[in-house]
Amino acid sequence: MSGTGAMEATVNNCILPKDKVLVVNGGTFGHRFCELLQRSSKDYQSIDLDWNETLTQSHLKPFENKGYTVFLVNLHETSSGKLYDIELISDFCKRNHILLIVDAISTFLADPYDMDKYGIAATIISSQKGLCCSAGMSVVALNPEMVERIQTSTRNCPYYYDFQFYIENMKRGQTPFTPAVTIAHEIDDVLNLIDKKGGLDSWLSDIKKKCLYFREKALEIGLDIPSYPKSVMLTPVYFKDNKASEVVSYLRDKYSIYVTPCGGKLANSLLRVCHLGDTSFADIDELVLRLKEVVKSN
Ligand SMILES: *Cc1c(COP(=O)(O)O)cnc(C)c1O
Repeated sequence: MSGTGAMEATVNNCILPKDKVLVVNGGTFGHRFCELLQRSSKDYQSIDLDWNETLTQSHLKPFENKGYTVFLVNLHETSSGKLYDIELISDFCKRNHILLIVDAISTFLADPYDMDKYGIAATIISSQKGLCCSAGMSVVALNPEMVERIQTSTRNCPYYYDFQFYIENMKRGQTPFTPAVTIAHEIDDVLNLIDKKGGLDSWLSDIKKKCLYFREKALEIGLDIPSYPKSVMLTPVYFKDNKASEVVSYLRDKYSIYVTPCGGKLANSLLRVCHLGDTSFADIDELVLRLKEVVKSN
């Protein structure tokens, strides 16, 4: 299933009828969590942020000691490249005895990530982002507390998505239903590749180097990169004059360079440059050269 399927399965399995849920709604993916919570009739409160607004202590303060039991966040809000402060969120959850559920789909294998250190109860990832594989397989990693919660509760969730089946079948090294086996092979290959290239730290540091290199060059030619804390998986570029979607088409049609457009309200003002996968410094130089043409023509 795609990442959204795993988000939905997580909402259905990890959140019980007695729970009070807090969710960060700071963009497209936060909004999606809200829609999923709504559809499954969960009791939730959203922390609504503008696309370029950073989550701070002051946003969390009103919710201290208010009996919330689950916190949902898309740690990297991919729609704008915002990376929320895991330390801030984790401290809030630990202090308030709240189960922390993280959609890490677009931060895992790009930024450092540690379930144990931050007391994360469930982590959602998907094959097509940091792993750079075909879309179609998602993984939800659960800590022991969450496994126990799922095993000992009656939840009303759809049959195919019922984590109880998956936990039970893992004991015999199987999945309950046929998974996307071809993608499992791809993932195996990528994990071996990461080992071959020096392991996780060196993988992360390569992405970061490419990211920082692009950001430096982009600023040199006068591009506008929003200043909120960002994931290194991508760089958002802001266009005051509403020409972001024109730039996306220009690069694609003239040079076969693909950068990612934004949707909705941001479509004309923001585009995103991805730093994952097999891109080289020479590719970045080429992209910057072409972006310079756009800036010049202003
Ligand atoms: C890509 C992404 C998803 C999943 O999207 P699908 O298209 O359903 O795979 C979910 N959350 C975040 C933060 C993402 O970046």
